[in-house]
Amino acid sequence: MLLCDRCFPRSVERRFRKAVYEKRMALPGEKIGVAVSGGKDSITLLHLMAELGRVKKFRVVALSVDEGIKGYREEALTCAREAASSLGVEHRVVSFRESFGATLDEMVRLAGEEGTGLDPCTYCGVMRRYLLNRMAREAGLVRVATGHNLDDEVQAILLNYLRGDLSRLLRLGPAYSSREGFVPRVKPLREIPEREVAAYALLKGLRVHLGQCPYARGIHAEVRDFLNRLESRHPNCKFGVLRTFERLKEGLGEDRKPEAELVGCEVCGEPTPGRVCRTCELLKGLGLR
Ligand code: SF4
Repeated sequence: MLLCDRCFPRSVERRFRKAVYEKRMALPGEKIGVAVSGGKDSITLLHLMAELGRVKKFRVVALSVDEGIKGYREEALTCAREAASSLGVEHRVVSFRESFGATLDEMVRLAGEEGTGLDPCTYCGVMRRYLLNRMAREAGLVRVATGHNLDDEVQAILLNYLRGDLSRLLRLGPAYSSREGFVPRVKPLREIPEREVAAYALLKGLRVHLGQCPYARGIHAEVRDFLNRLESRHPNCKFGVLRTFERLKEGLGEDRKPEAELVGCEVCGEPTPGRVCRTCELLKGLGLR
């Protein structure tokens, strides 16, 4: 569909609202978190959520995690701060350094010295999710919206296929179910292609951080490039992957194993299916616990 610069933003807003209403991602009177890294997806999401919140009477709180990635995260956080302040939205920020005693850069150096064999994204992903959940719970938020777009979701589907990680694959969806101690996540931009989110941010004049994380490499980037090549030759294949996955997931629903019961981590008290949570395990491996 070809749309002019007035109709295109409306089309994005319509699809965003449809996702929010259909999956009941935000209801009047609720307090909803928005995870904001400062990139185009999260800044766009914050704007859309804040505007819808004013109309539908739910409150939005922006949540950011400063992992401590030199030359990258500082500017992104400046964009996040500016966006939250221009929208009049409360903004909470926590850092790896104050929470774990080291920045991600320092952890990467320690991981090399200790020979853990784990890549930076493992530390970053696990610990960021941990902090976002703790922040959201402490702020009394009922859900946290993340800026995952169609491309992110399709990449995650393919990556989990390639890794053979069925349990993680089956957890993908527009909304994660709630488990005690975990604040549910929702993805209102999940059916909007990355290019369209970027075009929306551009047309709306949003200040976003466009830099790339220095640790972004490996199979993730290869899967992204592969999907982009396929999409340019065979339009709609990303939606095809998503729709097929959703149908498969419905069929597999009954075969899913029940999730393990959660207990408090012996070290930090956060919910975990094992004795010690993954964050505390990783910190121990680095000599930080
Ligand atoms: S690319 Fe990896 S290290 Fe960089 S922000 Fe993303 S998850 Fe973190």
